[in-house]
Amino acid sequence: MPDERLAHYREKRDFVGTPEPAGEEPLPAGEYPRFVVQLHDASHLHYDFRLEVDGVLKSWAVPKGPSTDPKVKRLAIPTEDHPLSYLTFEGTIPAGHYGAGTVMVWDLGIYQHVTHLHGQPISMAQALAKGHVQVLLAGQKLRGGYALIHTRGLRGGGEGWLLVKSADPEANADEEITRTQTRSVLSGRTLEEIAAGE
Ligand code: MN
Repeated sequence: MPDERLAHYREKRDFVGTPEPAGEEPLPAGEYPRFVVQLHDASHLHYDFRLEVDGVLKSWAVPKGPSTDPKVKRLAIPTEDHPLSYLTFEGTIPAGHYGAGTVMVWDLGIYQHVTHLHGQPISMAQALAKGHVQVLLAGQKLRGGYALIHTRGLRGGGEGWLLVKSADPEANADEEITRTQTRSVLSGRTLEEIAAGE
């Protein structure tokens, strides 16, 4: 039975031509939900931030990627839910296909959902609806608290989400992690090496 939440994902793709997973076989849930950050060299280089929620990957495109500096707010644009099997997708989507370009698994790990409202924990569904999601990441690169905050007050009057590091012991205002960390956590390859199929 195909997962209706992945209808948009499937509509955009021709699985004969793209190496991306069709997501037909659901991955079993682990003890903790997983997250992935993919570096995607599409028409514009960007990062994709994805959280496992109830069997799919809730996804945001983050043009500048995550920061470890709590003062830095990174725009995060919601995109279609992806199948869990996308957690480990790395490779090149051929020219002419949706999202054409090279994809790197830049970070991968588990997370804890810790959003509270008036001092009480709320569900991820409630947090997403409310537009404020607080998570604790345990990745190989990203660690500690991050917030995804829906806002209508973007420059230019638009609306979107912001990805912001929490001020905690894992924060580091002195490192630009997208510059210092440029290799896949799956294969150790750079984007160029993945593109070259090395
Ligand atoms: Mn992308």
